[in-house]
Amino acid sequence: MRIGALTDVGRVRKINEDSFRIFESDEYSYAIVADGMGGHLAGEVASSMAVDSISNYISENLTDDLDRFQAMEVIRQGFLYANSQIYEYSCINEKVMGMGTTATLCMVRGGYLIFAHVGDSRAYIIDEKICQITRDHSYVQELVKLGQITPEQAKRHPRRNIITRAMGVECSVKVDTGVKTYSGERILICSDGLIDTIEDAELLEIVRTGEPNECAKKLVDIANERGGSDNITAVVMEGEMTDA
Ligand code: CA
Repeated sequence: MRIGALTDVGRVRKINEDSFRIFESDEYSYAIVADGMGGHLAGEVASSMAVDSISNYISENLTDDLDRFQAMEVIRQGFLYANSQIYEYSCINEKVMGMGTTATLCMVRGGYLIFAHVGDSRAYIIDEKICQITRDHSYVQELVKLGQITPEQAKRHPRRNIITRAMGVECSVKVDTGVKTYSGERILICSDGLIDTIEDAELLEIVRTGEPNECAKKLVDIANERGGSDNITAVVMEGEMTDA
């Protein structure tokens, strides 16, 4: 697995509230992107707690004997554990009260891609085409689902940054998970600071070829060239090509 990852504060904000974590071993590799919210350092605390707690939970509980569905359940439990850690911390620390974060994880393990997410940080699979595998937990996604606006209108909607689900804001959280067969396609995980500035066709064009770390750098550069109004995080994963 080759993984390129970059996070950047952007051109407007003073603090980068995004966090990411990448992990590689012979058994499995994964990346997590978290986009924190809460202001005054709280978002930064929430997103780094999320990536720390999830990865600690996985390293302690994901054993080789588990099948893909059991592995997916370990990841889901890792998200719940992280949710409790953030929630409990915010309940006893007034400075970070109400903080929250998104979290999106993609793991490649034994010919399968396992993914989990809460919030609006996205994961895509990219080969000849681009396919978004996460569904945003956001206000505008609800409107799209109800047929009230189109996906194109959602992209420009003034309330597009309102999320309907986040880690750490309540004592529990619903985590969306999935598993797919995996044969070496590229995977992109990113925060909304990237998505708001770029079209899917451009993501496809940039992520399809080149070194993963160069792809991540190009994406962050584009978001900054287009204003960099939010923190920007991009992770590009590329597996060994196998014939499925
Ligand atoms: Ca953001």
